[in-house]
Amino acid sequence: MIIDSHCHIDFESFDHDRDQVLQRAHNTGIEHIIVPGISADTWQRVKNICTQHSKLHACYGLHPYYIDQHKLNDLITLNNWIKNESPVGIGECGLDFYLKNLDRKKQMDFFDAQLEMALEYNLPVVIHCRKATEQVIQLLKSKPGLRGMIHSYSGSYEQALQLIDLGIYLSFGGAITYERATRPRDIVSRIPLDYLLIETDAPDQADSQHHKQRNEPSYIKTIIDSIANLRDENPDIICTQTSNNCRQLFSF
Ligand SMILES: [Zn+2]
Repeated sequence: MIIDSHCHIDFESFDHDRDQVLQRAHNTGIEHIIVPGISADTWQRVKNICTQHSKLHACYGLHPYYIDQHKLNDLITLNNWIKNESPVGIGECGLDFYLKNLDRKKQMDFFDAQLEMALEYNLPVVIHCRKATEQVIQLLKSKPGLRGMIHSYSGSYEQALQLIDLGIYLSFGGAITYERATRPRDIVSRIPLDYLLIETDAPDQADSQHHKQRNEPSYIKTIIDSIANLRDENPDIICTQTSNNCRQLFSF
């Protein structure tokens, strides 16, 4: 069994062939896919798609990349969505300090509010984190009891260990299939398998074999093989353990 722990199958680029993409995912052995919502105007779309396909699991959140378009009121709407729709998690939320033009104070406020919701509803958080790993660690430390994952992890090995200490899972995708990605490849080879998740982040972040193409869940095989190689472990063990991790985190 394989689980794609982070995939935007609701995005427009799948509108013309979503069923075929999901069929190919199924043929590859993917049993479940976590689908994070990124802004208030996408939650209905995520809900519709996840209702139609039993293997898709919805999360709702306010992504830092779209911080300019989020309104304060969206947090209240999000709270209602979580209460009424019982998602498997909250997200995608987090901090993106890579892009300079995104309001960092507003990002911190929205992230903090979503972490509080995660505590209130005892749900895991799906965290997007670019160039802000230290800030994410500090925030998580200030809220004991939080559960969650960092998708497409890009921090250091030392920070990875701190996050694992906090009970946070680390997810890796297409980036680790590129030989030049020495740091994430090193981390994925060394962290304990019981905190590892795999994801495609499709339609983005295609692996080295599908460079510059639209990414899709069935390409996860390349990622699994890379991780198995880097860790010198059997691909079946990677699939089984990462699937168990994901089911445990999202409780399905
Ligand atoms: Zn994402």
